[in-house]
Amino acid sequence: MREEMPAAGYKAENALKGMGEAMNIKEMDQEYIAPTYKRFPIEIVEGKGSIVRDENGKEYIDLGSGIAVTSFGIADDIWQQAIISQIGKVQHMSNLYYTEPCAKLAQMLCEKTGMRKVFFSNSGAEANECAIKAARKYAADTKGPEYSTIVTMKNSFHGRTLTTLAATGQEHYHELFQPLTPGFIHADPGNREQLEEIVKENKIAAVMIECIQGEGGVLPLPADYLEWLGRFVKENDLLLVVDEVQTGNGRTGKLYSYMNFGLEPDIVSTAKGLAGGLPLGATMLSEKVQGVFGYGDHGSTFGGNPVCCAAALSILSRIDDAFLSEVREKGEYLFRTLSGAPGIESVSGMGLMVGFKPVKPLPEVIAACMENGVLCLSAKDKVRILPALNIPKTDLEKAVSIILSVCEA
Ligand code: PLP
Repeated sequence: MREEMPAAGYKAENALKGMGEAMNIKEMDQEYIAPTYKRFPIEIVEGKGSIVRDENGKEYIDLGSGIAVTSFGIADDIWQQAIISQIGKVQHMSNLYYTEPCAKLAQMLCEKTGMRKVFFSNSGAEANECAIKAARKYAADTKGPEYSTIVTMKNSFHGRTLTTLAATGQEHYHELFQPLTPGFIHADPGNREQLEEIVKENKIAAVMIECIQGEGGVLPLPADYLEWLGRFVKENDLLLVVDEVQTGNGRTGKLYSYMNFGLEPDIVSTAKGLAGGLPLGATMLSEKVQGVFGYGDHGSTFGGNPVCCAAALSILSRIDDAFLSEVREKGEYLFRTLSGAPGIESVSGMGLMVGFKPVKPLPEVIAACMENGVLCLSAKDKVRILPALNIPKTDLEKAVSIILSVCEA
């Protein structure tokens, strides 16, 4: 039985009363938050769709979507309703009990991908931790515990926990945090002979890839290499793990990026855009590996939280074929318009995951875009564009014309 509770009259600002009243938000942030992020000099206070507003009321077209998170933009109505409705029923329940949104989301993910089981967590790194644990356990169960090594690609990014850092094929992330989890070999993307050699010389459980290296500079792995890799892992009894944390949930114009290349992964991890702005990670297990985990083998207090899963259902249920074809169309528009434009050296990516290399210094371009009302991200030497998947064409065109004038001038 549910009783109607009187509204408590709580206001978020009341909680801040008396705290650091002499400081503005930027000063407070700099005083109290561990300085791991180099923030842009604006505070985002609100938004709607692909438009966000800063503390001075200045509007920006958001081409970053929280690094591929706000799949349907800021404060999307359907997404909000899904969350509000679930919060009013039950906001959290231990994984020791069944909850509807969690079960329905797992069913939807499996039906849309052909995978068989899902483990829910809270972030991309955790989704990858689970993928790595699943791959190691499966290889240990079927080939022996010595088959624990996982091959990942140089220039990849798989997360910030010690194990996903070890999986990440970029040395500079490793330096300060030794020793990392052992058992990873980093291969050159595209190099078939090298991978054959690695597999001959080592006891390998799995190969783990991003089809498009996001943090690594929006670099797609060569399509012919991916096709070959799909065959190679099968012939050599290796698992294929695809990290869809950034590329997933419609970003590349297919529900998951591996679907662009005809791959049949054994394990798929995703997060970021899955719940449209609430924290949720998912690790999907194919028919072959679906039995790898038993009671107690893995767990998470918040993983599969009903509010996050309700949010994800509201996102995933709208990513259908018609929606994906609009994503591809907008991506093609970006490619067409940016390729060969004055001041742009090269364009890479797929769907609404696009990188371009400007002739001018990167920080200068990003700052000028911001000055002119467009928020872009960077990835290595590229300007990275990851707009909301439903960004209106008019907002996209306006943002692109600002980018073009910034790059050209
Ligand atoms: N994997 C990929 C491909 C990513 O791009 C990221 C984050 O950028 C991660 C994993 C880590 O995700 P999270 O920051 O949610 O832990």
